[in-house]
Amino acid sequence: MPSLLQVALDTPLHRLFDYRLPDGVGAVPPGSLVEVPFGRTHQVGVTLGQPADSTVGADKLRDVIRVLDDRPALSPDILRLAQFCADYYHYPLGAILLATLPPRLRNATPFVADTPWLIVTEAGRTAQPAARAKAQRALLDALRAAPQSRDTLRAQKQGRHAAALVTAGWAAWSRVPPATSDAPQTTPPPSATAEQQAALDRLLPALTQFGVHLIHGITGSGKTELYLRLIDAVLARDQQTLVLIPEIALTPQLEQHFRRRFPGRRIITLHSGLTEATRTENWLAAPNCDVLLGTRLSVFAPLPRLGLIVVDEEHDASFKQQDSLRYSARDVAVARGKQRNVPVVLGSATPALESYAHALAGRYQLIELKQRAISQARLPTIELVDLKHIPIDNGLTRPALQALTETLARGEQSLVFINRRGYAPALYCSSCGWVSPCPRCSARLVLHRTSHRLKCHHCGFETRIPPECPGCGNPDLKPLGQGTQRLEETLTTLLPAARIRRIDRDTMRPRAWAELGEAVHGGEVDILVGTQMLAKGHDFPNMTLALILDTDGALYSPDFRATERLFAQLMQVAGRAGRADKPGCVLIQTAFPDHPLFRYLQRHDYPGYARELLAERRQLDLPPFTRQVLLRAEAPTMDAALAFLQRAAALAPERAGVSVFSATPAPMARVANLERAQLLIQSAQRQALQRLVAEWRPQLDTIKPRVARWSLDVDPLVF
Ligand code: ADP
Ligand code: ZN
Ligand code: ZN
Repeated sequence: MPSLLQVALDTPLHRLFDYRLPDGVGAVPPGSLVEVPFGRTHQVGVTLGQPADSTVGADKLRDVIRVLDDRPALSPDILRLAQFCADYYHYPLGAILLATLPPRLRNATPFVADTPWLIVTEAGRTAQPAARAKAQRALLDALRAAPQSRDTLRAQKQGRHAAALVTAGWAAWSRVPPATSDAPQTTPPPSATAEQQAALDRLLPALTQFGVHLIHGITGSGKTELYLRLIDAVLARDQQTLVLIPEIALTPQLEQHFRRRFPGRRIITLHSGLTEATRTENWLAAPNCDVLLGTRLSVFAPLPRLGLIVVDEEHDASFKQQDSLRYSARDVAVARGKQRNVPVVLGSATPALESYAHALAGRYQLIELKQRAISQARLPTIELVDLKHIPIDNGLTRPALQALTETLARGEQSLVFINRRGYAPALYCSSCGWVSPCPRCSARLVLHRTSHRLKCHHCGFETRIPPECPGCGNPDLKPLGQGTQRLEETLTTLLPAARIRRIDRDTMRPRAWAELGEAVHGGEVDILVGTQMLAKGHDFPNMTLALILDTDGALYSPDFRATERLFAQLMQVAGRAGRADKPGCVLIQTAFPDHPLFRYLQRHDYPGYARELLAERRQLDLPPFTRQVLLRAEAPTMDAALAFLQRAAALAPERAGVSVFSATPAPMARVANLERAQLLIQSAQRQALQRLVAEWRPQLDTIKPRVARWSLDVDPLVF
């Protein structure tokens, strides 16, 4: 029997593949990357073992093309974490394993690492080279102080000594520049507030083992400062911290903050805003970093000395991937913490109800920060403008305009928040009722006046603004409703003296955030107009008014999470107003001022609202009191999509305590010319639900006729 290799490949198939290892290739440790023939092409795969024999006939076995030893193998803990995801999300292991790699390493083209820096390794920090190896000792001492560049070492003819240190495992070539290079000044830590100290007294002793700690701290209470102190303790033990953050936009800010705080430490980032090359570099450097700051995919980064995982803004929906592997990075972080026996700290001003319920039930340790860290900073007052009694003109009421005018007169800044980007949500014909439909989706085309186009925000369809109504020929088409662009235009007309800046996904490149922050801090902006993107993590001390124009859609939405999300957004917007010593005000225009959400918001009472929502969820059998799995199907016709799901429902094994609902059209029924339907399965018992889906999934492959696409979404956030 030839030597065999079991390989996981990026295919939709839930199976592994056997290959023959050519003679002369020694043992291949699990996790190694190999190039193998697959069908008529080549693929990169991850080895999982060397089985004694194979069910594939010896004549059918194909040879491994080569072992890709230009790149590191995936470590056993990543293999284990991927296996957890494969089981929990019912997704093929090979697809998960390859998705954890940066794109360049998924490709078999030789990857020649350009490693310009020599850095000291863990072992090298305490190693004692032999006394007579003077040059090595000197170089090691130099490395302990700072990384050395390959060019310098070459110029100093140190190449041989460098190689010796690398062979001894005391130094390593790295692609990361010295962490100190771009952070000359450092920030000394402030002394902890009483609340922060109390939190530290509970958290620091808990750092030695797995446990989930939920920090519920109001905006500005100093959660970030708390993370920094925990990281400090982890660094002192020579361990690594993984910090997961929701948005790319915030990374540069936070990165700077971390660099100033930890000069000389290796802090690296991983997010989709980086070039492919940098992403690969940083991923390769992760095993030697001190702190890894990254968005959701970083939860799979290689970190051999992991000592702590922090998930900041843990409630943020961007932690959940909405396609292919539909994982929640927060939940995977908890799983990784458990597997590695390291603590997980979740932080938010408005925790996800899932997390908060765990904390109330005692499964997570709840740590509360109720006061702002800077003592003068007061919480803003929250006022409602009742749209049932106060007329609205171009999206704005008189009180709202007055508040803006007064804030401007005081030389302070305002934030105007509207949840629609573009000029207006649609273009409208008043004679026949035509409302710019997307030809491919059950959605309206959004009017973008600056680019003179109608755009679909769901499928990307774009077209020129028609000169007349396509329905009746009426040339007088009008914008319907308010978007950020139209609001900016209105404000420019009404407040000609104000310097207005609009921010939404249409105008914002990741690096533009830093520039915007400077403009606001420098007092070059009076009014910021934007979508919910604005609500994230900025600290503008002179921003004393936040105006919220359109929230009512979420108050009575069929999506049961809509109010939870709206509350989180509004709390965050409120947190932006008046953070320093100036009192802030939040003004909300609504036709439903009696909605309970506002009552809690006005008291800044997250726990109160969370308890009310949880009671409601319990009564209605909704998450977190029940676990859900959604089967989605897309087909050219709704009938085909529904028929597939009905067939699937009939195949679902019967299980006590698991409910299989009926197939229904999705709330957004048509996207990009495909009709979408869904089938919900739920149970109060996670295990029962998981076992059912594990049995059920293979059967879904057998359903005929097939649909264009189907997928399982475990713990779905969006329906
Ligand atoms: P959060 O992450 O909870 O919104 P931050 O950690 O950003 O809050 O802190 C809010 C503000 O308070 C920041 O400007 C921060 O520098 C400051 N701050 C935090 N902790 C302290 C402290 N112990 N002493 C003084 N200022 C602090
Ligand atoms: Zn018309
Ligand atoms: Zn569309």
